[in-house]
Amino acid sequence: MGGAARLTLGLLYPREMNLYGDRGNLLALRRRAERRGVDLAVNAIGLDGESTSLIATCSGFLIGGGQDLDQLAVADDLVSRKGPALAEAVAAGAPLLAVCAGYQLLGTHYLAADGTRIPGLGLLPLSTVAGGSRLVGNLMVTAAPELELEQPLLVGFENHSGRTLLEPGLPALGRVVRGRGNDGDSGCEGARLGTVIGTYLHGPLLPKNPSLADWWLFTAGAHAGVTVDRQPLDDSLEEAARHEAIAVTLAGSRQRGYRLLGRERPLRRTG
Ligand code: GLN
Repeated sequence: MGGAARLTLGLLYPREMNLYGDRGNLLALRRRAERRGVDLAVNAIGLDGESTSLIATCSGFLIGGGQDLDQLAVADDLVSRKGPALAEAVAAGAPLLAVCAGYQLLGTHYLAADGTRIPGLGLLPLSTVAGGSRLVGNLMVTAAPELELEQPLLVGFENHSGRTLLEPGLPALGRVVRGRGNDGDSGCEGARLGTVIGTYLHGPLLPKNPSLADWWLFTAGAHAGVTVDRQPLDDSLEEAARHEAIAVTLAGSRQRGYRLLGRERPLRRTG
């Protein structure tokens, strides 16, 4: 009698790319996998050469956020050593969820605030240039319907100087409802291509957005040929956290004014 179904998560650069609690995405996935009858093993895919060979054994991948210096520290290894195996894995259907700095590194390059050009994997046709100010605050996004998320309204927060430009034809993860998103102007947030999703949503993202955690698990299961139970779970705790984040975000935007036609406009005081 075999044990529980098993998936393996490749955690890219866990020492360098883990900003604002993004490691919480791993913890959320592990717990949700367990609730869906799956044992989720974790392979740390770091700067060491040996871990490159682990990529082919992974069912899917996560990469978190980081400072410009962290991105510079991993970029060469990511592009030259890990890139080919990662590209092969996602082409075969492995999910890759990338947050902020990790998302930027999936594009062609990131031009950092000091003018350093940090090369990216080129998995997503996009590029990022640091802006003169940081885009910081709560972020709420309506995910594209193509993702068929149970709860398409995604919540979290953002803190980035990078402005990310999607090449024509590259779909966004979704539309900004509150916050700034890819560039603070287009109304787009994140990007998606095949089984790759990039986003500026920190939080960590997955504990408050369980349907995206399910996207990762179901995609990884399909890729690995492992059955992942899809029965609805009791998400009352996750939903309470999500609704709290939504309420805080909406209240914050009421206090600060709200985006209307792309401009910040203070609420008119009546009476
Ligand atoms: N260093 C990148 C920027 O400032 C990403 C920051 C992050 O991961 N939060 O845009």
